[in-house]
Amino acid sequence: MLRILLNAFHTGVVTTRYPAEPSVPPDRFRGLPVLRPGSHLPPPSVCPTGALSEHIDGGRRHVGLDVARCVFCGRCAEDPWAGAITMGRDFELAARCRDDLRIEVVADDPAVPAAGPASDPAAEAAHASSEIHRVLGRSLHLRHIDAGSCNACDWELTALLNPVYDVRRLGIDFVASPRHADGVVVTGSVTRNLETAVRRTLEAIPDPRVVIAVGACAASGGIVGESYASAGGVDRVLPVDVYIPGCPPRPEAIIFGILVAVGRLDARRPHRPHRATTTGSST
Ligand code: SF4
Repeated sequence: MLRILLNAFHTGVVTTRYPAEPSVPPDRFRGLPVLRPGSHLPPPSVCPTGALSEHIDGGRRHVGLDVARCVFCGRCAEDPWAGAITMGRDFELAARCRDDLRIEVVADDPAVPAAGPASDPAAEAAHASSEIHRVLGRSLHLRHIDAGSCNACDWELTALLNPVYDVRRLGIDFVASPRHADGVVVTGSVTRNLETAVRRTLEAIPDPRVVIAVGACAASGGIVGESYASAGGVDRVLPVDVYIPGCPPRPEAIIFGILVAVGRLDARRPHRPHRATTTGSST
């Protein structure tokens, strides 16, 4: 017993202060790719997941990045495109609207930013967020569904309960039964075999309920996509409230997304200038 107490004394407090204090990712961490307007941006074929796209509009090449599909591999930021795209360190990427995760810039012409989404997702997000917060209060019980993941996102979710991240300090917990849950957190693209089970799990949760898609596969179908065996992203099966990009998202990114779901954080933060300047809207 004395040894346990001494160990605890030597170890000290290991629990992160995030989100009360910012979290600094490790040096080699790759966050959101930053596209430089007016530069020689790579063609879509460079991206192994189909996250990059392009089209010609008004004689100019527009390059799009679907953040939900991106696995942050860094390939598009390598030579000869280094500088046109750089790997940022932003991991707070959760969004309530799928369109918020699409970035578009005009290549080779810095003077003309591309148009952003037509709707005002900020207003929609604020309304939905306040409703959920009003009804659910400041705690959230979630049922995890692995709909067909590779388990990477599941490991990051598991880490939320360890002493370092300890999400219970924030009033967030995972429960075994959907009857006891306020919502589901889904990992993986939804396999056809589990499609019915995923639907029924959500139906077992009383309203109001939230659906959080964790990771590139859940947010967009990822590299799995749609096929005879996979329905694709979670929003093909359930109404998703919050998308958390990443492959897998780091635990703080998941915490950020969950807090967005209960309205304790704004889905979009002012320190994302590349979105505000390149699309006319931000995430
Ligand atoms: S970092 Fe993202 S956009 Fe770039 S190549 Fe990798 S998956 Fe595609």
